[in-house]
This record gives sequence, structure tokens and C-alpha cells, in this order.
Amino acid sequence: MMSRDPRIVRELQLSEVRVLPKAVNFHFIPHCNYGCKFCFATFNDIPSRSRLSKEDTLKIPALLANAGAEKITLVGGEPTLCPWLNELLEESKRAGLTTCVVTNGTGMTSDWLKENHHLLDWVGISIDASNDIIHAKIGRGLRKDLVKGVSKHLELTRRVWKACKKYGIKMKLNTVICSENVEDDMSVLVAELKPDRWKIFQVLPVEGQNSGCVDNLLLSKEEFDSWIKRHEWYKEKYGKDAFVAESNDLMRGSYAMVDALGRFYSNSKGGHVYSDSILDVGVEKSWKKNCFNEERFNDRGGIYDWGGDSNIVNLPQINIQAIIL
Ligand code: SF4
Repeated sequence: MMSRDPRIVRELQLSEVRVLPKAVNFHFIPHCNYGCKFCFATFNDIPSRSRLSKEDTLKIPALLANAGAEKITLVGGEPTLCPWLNELLEESKRAGLTTCVVTNGTGMTSDWLKENHHLLDWVGISIDASNDIIHAKIGRGLRKDLVKGVSKHLELTRRVWKACKKYGIKMKLNTVICSENVEDDMSVLVAELKPDRWKIFQVLPVEGQNSGCVDNLLLSKEEFDSWIKRHEWYKEKYGKDAFVAESNDLMRGSYAMVDALGRFYSNSKGGHVYSDSILDVGVEKSWKKNCFNEERFNDRGGIYDWGGDSNIVNLPQINIQAIIL
């Protein structure tokens, strides 16, 4: 029976007419070596046995590109824990996609970057605070450090940030605001890093992902806005695409996300709701089942000038017919 909730009815109506957005996040690896208490991508609900094989995972970028995607963001878990991340990036470039990897920085060593920097248009690094004392409280650090009560996250990510910049990779800074960092001031740090895009998220409760861990970290919209006000100078200086604040309302249902089983999924109703795998039913059918709010996607600036050069790697083109069902 059709829901009578006007918000859900509107979302279902939108799902009838919309097409796949140009930017898609692929959460292809569910594990992580960090212990962020608010993590809303734990994927404990994904049975490890049914995850896609490497061979099937490598098919996803071309299928998305064939359905209209222009940019792929590889997300986790922690993408750099995957030993064949470079091959997934290569397939993404081969499909003509602008690439981005969102990472905690731990696997982006100088050797890895030296080998693979040409496959990266963007790197997104998550830094939540001006110091590692706050990161330790949030759990933004390696689990082996957190058990000793410390985090070395800022020390590490500063190094990775500089190395990426040296290769001319565009840099995105992701910051989650919660009760532990709401009073912090990141102005000096961000003036040093100068991200091309700074995304700031209000900590988001997601049923089944961070239930039971996030309650003490939640914020009111007013508290979130107070942090935004303190840092909004960045938008005034570098423009609206360089500083994007996402409240809980804007985050819900406004991302096109694929999980490690190749299913679109949505958080618009509180927890993750998964569609069928695009390898079983194709992108179009899987996407049609997914609850997505295009207005919110546009309101949060989902489309911007992300650049990226699909000719950056001279690779033979893919025969899409060979991988379509
Ligand atoms: S680094 Fe990202 S994926 Fe890992 S625990 Fe933290 S928020 Fe979750």
C-alpha cells in the first residue's frame, strides 16, 4: 500500500521521473581500520560472504558510466585497504569517469601515490578537528592507537595532503561536526590546507549503522549552525562550491550510493534500504527502486565543476556490451 506520509509520497513521485545523477558514490569496501564513534558506513548488515568478487566490482564503473554517471567517488569503509584500488581507479578512468577517493589517509603512502597519482582527479580526506586530542575523543584514529588513548590522524593526513597536492590532485576536506568538536575552530588549519572543496556534515544517526554509539555525539541544528558561522569565511573567500554545509535534512536521500554488493541504497527513511544488485537487474531497474531526492541533491550542490580528464590515462575503451547483462 502507498505511504500517506507526504514526504515519502513526494520522494516516490520523484523516483518515477528522475535519472541517475552524474555523481555516484561507490562504497565498494565495507571494512575500516579506524574507530570513529559516529561512523555511519559500518555496513555490519552486509554479509561478508555475499560481497562482490574483484572481477564483478571492476565492472561497476563502466555500468554506471553507461547509465549517465560522470564522476565516481570510491568510498568505504577505507578504500586504501583494498589491494586492487588502483585497478578499480583504472577501470573508472577507462570508462571516462572523473575519479575521487575518500580516505582516512592510512594507505596513501608516498609509494602508492607515486604509482597511481595519474588515476586520481580528487582525493577527499576526513579531518574533523584542529588537533588530535579531539580526534582521539571522536575515535578518528587507528584502532591500535585509540586503545592507548591517542590519535595520530592529523599528523598523518597533513603529510598525505601535501603529497597529493604535489601531484596536482584536487583536494576535498570532509569534516563531521558532533558534540566533541562543535566548539573547535579549524580556521588556522584550513587556511594552511586550502581545500578545493570543504564539506561539512552534521553528525547523522543512521539506524543499523551507528545506533547505540552516536547518541552522545548528536547536535541540534542551532549548534551545527554555530560551527558553520565560525568557519563561513571560507565560503566568502573561495566561493559557494568551496564550502558546503550539510545538515541532517540535506544528507538524507540526497546521495546516489552503491554498496559492496552492487546495490543502490538510500538512507532517506532513517536506516539503509537496499535495491537489487545492478549486476543482477541492470543500473536502470536497480536505480528506479532506490529512494532518492533530487531536490536535496541539487540543494547540497551535488553538481559542481569537478573537472577531471578522462584522457588522463591512455587506456583502450571498454566494450560495454560484453559486461551488460
Ligand atoms: S574512517 Fe570513515 S569508514 Fe572508517 S570508521 Fe571513520 S568514518 Fe567510518
